[in-house]
Amino acid sequence: MSEETRLRRVFMALVDWRRRDALAKCLGNDLQCGAAVIRSHSIQCGFILKQLSADGHVYVFEHELDGVVRLTRKGIRRASTFSGFCAAHDQSIFRRIDFSNERTFDSESVEQILLLSLRAISREFWAKLNNQASLRRLADLTRQRDVAGIMALFNCDDSVARTVILRASDIGLFREGTTWSTERTRRSFFSLSRQLENQKYHLTVRQVFEFPNRTGFAAASGTTPLYDLHGKEINSLGHDRDAADLVLNAFPSNGSQWVVVTYHQRHANRLAPFLNQLIALPREEREIAISKFVVMNIENLALAPALVNELTPEKRQEVESAFQRTILDNETFTQFPEVNLFIKA
Ligand SMILES: [Zn+2]
Repeated sequence: MSEETRLRRVFMALVDWRRRDALAKCLGNDLQCGAAVIRSHSIQCGFILKQLSADGHVYVFEHELDGVVRLTRKGIRRASTFSGFCAAHDQSIFRRIDFSNERTFDSESVEQILLLSLRAISREFWAKLNNQASLRRLADLTRQRDVAGIMALFNCDDSVARTVILRASDIGLFREGTTWSTERTRRSFFSLSRQLENQKYHLTVRQVFEFPNRTGFAAASGTTPLYDLHGKEINSLGHDRDAADLVLNAFPSNGSQWVVVTYHQRHANRLAPFLNQLIALPREEREIAISKFVVMNIENLALAPALVNELTPEKRQEVESAFQRTILDNETFTQFPEVNLFIKA
């Protein structure tokens, strides 16, 4: 087995393990809630995912067991879920963005926008805590050179387990990076929670894009954008304790496709110029720029089958491999392939 194959197996074992053994912890009541968690939707199922779906399915980017990312059909009951809230907190915190035909998205409601951001950040925070817990356990096993323990945990053979031990320093570096980004996400999570509790929203900058008569995708994620549309650096790759993160929600509602971006006002000088570039674009170019940004930066993403089925096999593969590259590499907008996630509603 080549070194590359072994490393790919290590990576896949990690992905698979995190899926099988995900953290189940309610983030409600400042993480002090001990109630049993449910599978919460970070993108609302009953109204949003349902609108995008065909035969109860949407498409998501997923790492398959051979390590390759593909657009995969996923049932809407399972898409975008995470085990980060108990039933009572999930209901009480987010009921005001439990959209229906009677209660649709109101772009004037700051509260709705902040709740959408909080839910996206909650999933992000949960994923990072999950990551940290996995890496901590893995670091313990590699320190003890526990081959049998790693084999049992990863369900892998002994050569993969030995590769993990040889790569202990990489795991250490990865852990360090995760620690910084977890702390940043924790800070955003508590900041948004407090703003909503106190109904004081001035710390959050909001930018809402409406695309009438369009649909196509839904997203809910925090991200650290690296470049603006002209390739100018917004954030560098180092472990920046105060990186300019933003939260992006996208969804169809009221016959339009919405893209809602929020960020903390202390990052306005770094993020506002990028958003102004998007605002200045004509509609179709804006659709493409936002589509590229979403595929480049947003991991928690669901696409309408009507959109995916329109892609030629070549385009589909190009988008899949571009998505996969973003996990390790950093491309600018000009380098990234042309893609449009917006379709006619
Ligand atoms: Zn709870």
